[in-house]
Amino acid sequence: MGKFIPLSIPNFEGNERKYVDDALDQGWVSTGGAYITRLEEDLAAFLHTKNVAAVQSGTSALHLSLVEAGVQPGDIVLVPPLTFIAAVNPVKYQFASPVFIDCDDSFCMDPVKLRSFCKEECEFDGTALSHNGKVVKAVLVVHVFGNMADMEAIMEIAEEYHLKVIEDATEALGTFYTEGKYAGKYAGTIGHFGAFSFNGNKIITTGGGGAVTANDPAVVDHIRFLSTQAKTDPHYYLHDEVGYNYRMTNLQAALGVAQMEELPEFLRRKQKNFEQYEEEFRDFAYGTIMPFREGTSSNKWFYSLNIDKEHVHASMREIILALQEKGVQTRPIWGLINEQKPYLNEETYQMEKAPYYAERILNIPSSTQITREEISYVVSTIKQVLEEIAE
Ligand SMILES: *Cc1c(COP(=O)(O)O)cnc(C)c1O
Repeated sequence: MGKFIPLSIPNFEGNERKYVDDALDQGWVSTGGAYITRLEEDLAAFLHTKNVAAVQSGTSALHLSLVEAGVQPGDIVLVPPLTFIAAVNPVKYQFASPVFIDCDDSFCMDPVKLRSFCKEECEFDGTALSHNGKVVKAVLVVHVFGNMADMEAIMEIAEEYHLKVIEDATEALGTFYTEGKYAGKYAGTIGHFGAFSFNGNKIITTGGGGAVTANDPAVVDHIRFLSTQAKTDPHYYLHDEVGYNYRMTNLQAALGVAQMEELPEFLRRKQKNFEQYEEEFRDFAYGTIMPFREGTSSNKWFYSLNIDKEHVHASMREIILALQEKGVQTRPIWGLINEQKPYLNEETYQMEKAPYYAERILNIPSSTQITREEISYVVSTIKQVLEEIAE
């Protein structure tokens, strides 16, 4: 076998084995145990937020946020089209309808289009926003690839139209504003709810896992309560609400506590590697590295190469296969969610940038373990492949 540079692999250079062993020794492997509380405290301290609930996945974090936001059957939730489908599926779990709002050049929701949808396509009676007779309850914003959506504009719109804001920060743990109204605020702590994921490919991993925060700490307590089957009286098995089995396990949390210790180092490496990619692609004719939003410090979770499709006449599939043969694993950005089978009948609004980027963005290797030499190899291989096609 020749060279193989993976797209993204987890990094267990710290205390992962020690803490997981410890959890096993204590016999606390399930949804009770000290590591869960410790991870919640570590996350809350890192994010400068009061209360965090650890759950089984980013998807369950989003689902519980929608439940707590009061999203009911028949309601509308405004969502992005260009992201992982897990962000939008929980809208369906609630039997609500998504409306897809186009993205801007950060791949995140375009606030200009969000505002014009609310203003031109909806009615506001001073209390609630409605669209074709359905209540528009919430807007679900995804901080794509560790970028930050334009939260200042989005929060203003949400306040004006009484929308709940759910931040999908599953890809953006560690991203924060450095300037403006929200300077110092982390992705996931600006809206009413923030969801995080610790799946295997995210910046930290617990195997599978996630977390939720909310601007009201009491709401987080209720989310934690719902995530453990809503035990009103745990000794006599009395339940006043429908609960979920969404709690994180102590084994997962043991991994998470170790990963949180390493997060600052992961962030340093992601930044350094991004700078090298930017530098080495600087004068390349057929592709540019997409920047992250100004006025923020991004976690630089995933790197995006914007391929010049005017000159590179090949499908993404062909490009990815050609790179694969040379040992460089890449992936396309997602297919648009509104074009996936369960969503074909849902409404879209002013789609323009999302389909444009869906055809052009290639994600390139971004593991924290990648070396300087490997990055240089990735860059020269991509240049060679794209130049051959373009000529
Ligand atoms: C990973 C991810 C999720 C889901 O997180 P899981 O932990 O895999 O359930 C949701 N939204 C986005 C944008 C993601 O990247």
